[in-house]
Amino acid sequence: MITIALSKGRIFEETLPLLEAAGIKPLEDPETSRKLILGTNRADVRLIIVRASDVPTYVQYGAADIGVAGKDVLNEHGGDGLYQPLDLNIAKCRMMVAVRSDFDYESAVKQGARIRVATKYVKTAREHFASKGVHVDLIKLYGSMELAPLVGLSDAIVDLVSSGATLKANNLVAVEEVSQISSRLVVNQASLKLKRSTIQPMLDAFAGAVKG
Ligand code: ATP
Ligand code: MG
Repeated sequence: MITIALSKGRIFEETLPLLEAAGIKPLEDPETSRKLILGTNRADVRLIIVRASDVPTYVQYGAADIGVAGKDVLNEHGGDGLYQPLDLNIAKCRMMVAVRSDFDYESAVKQGARIRVATKYVKTAREHFASKGVHVDLIKLYGSMELAPLVGLSDAIVDLVSSGATLKANNLVAVEEVSQISSRLVVNQASLKLKRSTIQPMLDAFAGAVKG
């Protein structure tokens, strides 16, 4: 049995065509089903539906053989025990620093001021500001980061941005790119060794579908 860990929403939707290229079709839609384990047309393949940030953990411990996770999530997780053979080029967005439009980020940085940064991505943010030599106090949040600068919790946020509509609606502006984000295939290293005859053709089919 091969178990593939996916999160609901954009990753599931954008992974469907890749699964199809490998001859895998889910028997149910996770948006309407309450099941967390979904069968597929292939008796030897099942899907599990987990929180996006939990995908690397399931694969790391071998509870799933394969998963799809954003680079944002993988960087926070650290990638221990994960083989990352393929950038799937899906769920693309950018990790950005954003501030209230009346906050002069460049001056604050130039003056060497300590900047308060709220984010779900504490490790990513710490690494980013350390590499730039910017002093920050990091505040961990679990969602709705855009609110933090509006109510004085922080000067800045580090968050994912795609269209920028959410930032704009909250009077925030992106001032710096941290990294480009897309989703990667992650594979449990032991699974790859033990089940290579099943997993390798899947990886090849995914790779072919990404290029095509
Ligand atoms: P939850 O919403 O359950 O707290 P999450 O925000 O991590 O979890 P999603 O919003 O479904 O889950 O995002 C899943 C992945 O999709 C992210 O880890 C990221 O890689 C990517 N992603 C997030 N936001 C965007 C976006 N606006 N555009 C494109 N890709 C995105
Ligand atoms: Mg989300």
